Amino acid sequence: MDTLQTIGQVRREWGDRLLILGHHYQDAAVVGLCDAVGDSLELSRLAAASKAERIVFCGVRFMAETADILTRGPDGRACGRSVWLPAPGAGCPMADMATAEALEAAWARLGAAAPGADWVPVVYVNSSAEVKAFCGRHGGSACTSGNGRRVVERLLAQGKRIFFAPDQHLSANIMRALGLADAYALWRRALPDGGLAPGAIRAARLVAWDGCCPIHAGYTLGDVQAARAAAPAGAALLIHPEAPSPVARLAEHVGSTKDIIEAVGRAEPGSALLIGTEDRLVRRLAAANRHLDIRPLRPILCEDMGRTTPEALLRTLTEWPEACRVRVDDALVPDARACVERMLAF
Ligand code: SF4
Repeated sequence: MDTLQTIGQVRREWGDRLLILGHHYQDAAVVGLCDAVGDSLELSRLAAASKAERIVFCGVRFMAETADILTRGPDGRACGRSVWLPAPGAGCPMADMATAEALEAAWARLGAAAPGADWVPVVYVNSSAEVKAFCGRHGGSACTSGNGRRVVERLLAQGKRIFFAPDQHLSANIMRALGLADAYALWRRALPDGGLAPGAIRAARLVAWDGCCPIHAGYTLGDVQAARAAAPAGAALLIHPEAPSPVARLAEHVGSTKDIIEAVGRAEPGSALLIGTEDRLVRRLAAANRHLDIRPLRPILCEDMGRTTPEALLRTLTEWPEACRVRVDDALVPDARACVERMLAF
């Protein structure tokens, strides 16, 4: 039997005691082996609702950590379920750009600069369990690229000021979409006090950490010019909100992977679409929609998302190596869980 057949056999033996989840940016060979494929928000919801004994996450570490947080008891103790990451080295460079310790220091500075302000942290789900625990401890919520605008809009409507981490571009795109670009300030990690004077902090309604997704943040105005020049006239640009704001503002549609997939589904036959997100997804969309002219804005690949292979999945399903088990520190779970559950309630 080859690898795929063996995975299929093992999968059948486990039945509903096993759930294999995969992110849209996984390789097509891996996607075909998953029980469900989705973006971070969809996968978080599936993990929370699952009763499977073992959840195997074909994605990166922060996703598996989120699944583990959601499948623990409220006190952080395990409830007979476990989460596994076939590629234990698959991380996320953006998540690594923010530590709980650094965020705590910035948080204290924001409070000191604007003592009467009602600050609340919002962390992108692309962050470590420690960062989510920081957020939950201070009454904040996680968000994804799919619901980030809703989370920010609702908190601002409540009169809160937001400390957003780690993605500067997602938060900038949300504030621009809300017509509040002037109320956005950037906290620069390398500078003392984030490079923000107290007056600038007091004037901001959202202060953003200066992390970014190195994959999506690399898009440039030149990429848009070149792609539009090569595409049929009238091609629409669909782009992920982790792209820089000056590039995103040129797009006909800015949205999460799920939004982009849905926009492709609504496109008229014969439409030309330029898609600005991870290339494994763009290639799958192009292959599945031959009636459309789908092209990448510029092909970009997330190395970490590509670390999961069918062979790594098979090894996890047959050997269950301890190195592939993802277990968030018990002490972090209650606060991190509060942060993620607030997101799911939005
Ligand atoms: S695409 Fe960007 S945000 Fe997503 S896992 Fe890769 S580096 Fe992280």
